[in-house]
Amino acid sequence: MIERTLVLVKPDGVHRQLVGEIISRFERAGLKLVGIKMFWADKEHAMKHYTEDITIRRGENVRNKLLRFLVIGPVVAICLEGIEAIEIVRKIVGDTQPKTALPGTIRGDYSHMSYAYADAKDKAIPNLIHASTTKEEAEYEIALWFKSEELHSYKLPHEDHVL
Ligand code: GDP
Ligand code: MG
Repeated sequence: MIERTLVLVKPDGVHRQLVGEIISRFERAGLKLVGIKMFWADKEHAMKHYTEDITIRRGENVRNKLLRFLVIGPVVAICLEGIEAIEIVRKIVGDTQPKTALPGTIRGDYSHMSYAYADAKDKAIPNLIHASTTKEEAEYEIALWFKSEELHSYKLPHEDHVL
């Protein structure tokens, strides 16, 4: 039941200096930081992250907008570990569309854009975070962003209370 998941603070989150705020939200829920790095992806890397799966789910147009967006600046890649971490992290991140993301979630608290507005501006919705959705996605994405030696296993002093 202990899972690892991949989070990216997307370029909008880095540009808005929300990295510390975002990480603290995961830490305070007891999720363990097992990997972290700043990385400025190029188009090729972005294409491996936003694969054809996005085209199938959201269309070619959205994928192209995302590929442009992901490379405008560095991202902070984070690997988190915890109980059913994939689902928990998605809960903390909130809905894809900031307009409908609930207050208390990262997207709900720090953004408010709608699909309609982003589409009219021909840009990927800037919603601060990427987070893996499934076990398969998490496994693939962690391996894409981290080498195995960049991930760490260690015990937290208060682990008996949270894990
Ligand atoms: P996520 O897992 O919640 O990030 O959502 P998806 O994996 O479905 O989509 C990836 C990203 O594409 C989202 O986080 C948004 O930045 C962007 N996106 C998704 N759907 C749309 C859309 O309909 N319009 C626009 N402009 N951007 C979208
Ligand atoms: Mg997604």
